[in-house]
Amino acid sequence: MDIECDVLIVGTGIAGLYSALNLRDNLKIALVSKGDITQTNTYLAQGGIATAKDASDKPSFIEDTLRAGNYKNDLTAVRILADESIENIKKLIELGVDFDKSDDDLLYTREGAHSTNRIVHHKDYTGKEVADALIERVLKRKNIKIYKNFYLCDLITQNNRCLGGIFIKENKQINIFSKFTILATGGIGGLFKNSTNQRILTGDGLSIAVKNSIKLKDIQYIQFHPTAFYENTNERRFLISESVRGEGAYLLNSKGERFVDELLPRDEVSSKIYSEMKKTNSPCVYLSLSHLNSSYVKHRFPKIYSECLKRGIDITKDSIPVAPAQHYFMGGIEVDLYSKTSMENLFATGEVSCTGVHGENRLASNSLLEGLVFSKRAANYINNLSDKTLLKKVSPKIITDFEMVKRENLKIAIDLIKEKRWDLKDELISH
Ligand SMILES: Cc1cc2nc3c(=O)[nH]c(=O)nc-3n(C[C@H](O)[C@H](O)[C@H](O)COP(=O)(O)OP(=O)(O)OC[C@H]3O[C@@H](n4cnc5c(N)ncnc54)[C@H](O)[C@@H]3O)c2cc1C
Repeated sequence: MDIECDVLIVGTGIAGLYSALNLRDNLKIALVSKGDITQTNTYLAQGGIATAKDASDKPSFIEDTLRAGNYKNDLTAVRILADESIENIKKLIELGVDFDKSDDDLLYTREGAHSTNRIVHHKDYTGKEVADALIERVLKRKNIKIYKNFYLCDLITQNNRCLGGIFIKENKQINIFSKFTILATGGIGGLFKNSTNQRILTGDGLSIAVKNSIKLKDIQYIQFHPTAFYENTNERRFLISESVRGEGAYLLNSKGERFVDELLPRDEVSSKIYSEMKKTNSPCVYLSLSHLNSSYVKHRFPKIYSECLKRGIDITKDSIPVAPAQHYFMGGIEVDLYSKTSMENLFATGEVSCTGVHGENRLASNSLLEGLVFSKRAANYINNLSDKTLLKKVSPKIITDFEMVKRENLKIAIDLIKEKRWDLKDELISH
């Protein structure tokens, strides 16, 4: 079966949804997800979205982002991130996102390595609030058609130009031809035994890039979040947001002693936790909020409170067992400042892309912001070019063994990570 559209967007997280909503409403858009449309890391985001509060906050936001990234960031991309943050947060509010406020003023919280409070949030489930609002808008747009449970296994290409994507749906091959394609396929957590990510996110965008010789960047930069709930399970690890430490929680070792400045960048806190676990021969450390006002804690972190309670921990009294887990991928498909990849008519936005904003280590809450800023840039670019571009069709390759293609893609992604980070080989799933 063949489908034709102006823009094919693969991914229904913040990057895919926001790209779709910023494209002209006279463009025919196919919006595709591997699982259900809410099976995204976006839906899981807790802490919030970083933003410059006003023009005077931009220099310090830029400096915090660079310092967290160990100055390996792309400075121009970081400046754009800060410069365009305020307009994109305003746009989210226009689209119906309800950030926490005091009277009419946005409430800003703080997270590790930010020098001031600048994170807008909706309690401790900001991602769900944002995704629900964007999905509601997308469903109202007649020019956007959603295709669920479509697995992108390869691109349709000719002479380094992207002509669409090849999908597998219930053991059938479906080809979607498009003038432009946006890969918004998210991260790589599903490749790791311990990760806070949705298990279905197995770096498919990366495998497809490798197969098509599309340029990649910074693959070695993989972030481990310091505080995932520690439990002996193969399931996704439940995250205890950085904003919990931002609001004053302490990290304690097995003797109940503090051992680290809780607000250091993530890589530094994770590394201190690993050393402490080794020193005390313990599989985890503890996060304590018991010194904070309990009704405030329940009101500010309702999701974390209820999820921990399900696991037998009352966070207003008990310490939470935590250990680092794979969380975020700073590297990805190399893109320019308009999210263009090295393949013509192919864009990448969100976690699958590498704009260079995060450098070696992402500053807390900069991921959702990156998804907004650079998806809008991609959409604007396509809006200007679409009328001058013709849809082109060729005969795509025919997939005969669907399971084999999926296994191959998994192997390509795992091998790529192993090649760049041999030290993490035991953390990866087997294939
Ligand atoms: C627990 C948790 C908490 C977080 N909290 C925050 C936070 O507070 N602030 C912040 O800034 N960041 C946070 N992050 C990071 C942030 O949520 C993600 O980086 C961001 O949401 C990624 O958005 P995305 O649109 O790129 O990808 P996602 O939202 O992950 O969406 C990926 C999409 O790609 C689709 N897809 C993947 N492969 C295929 C395929 N082969 N075929 C078809 N479709 C495919 C999936 O179906 C999905 O729709 C958090 C992450 C986690 C896991």
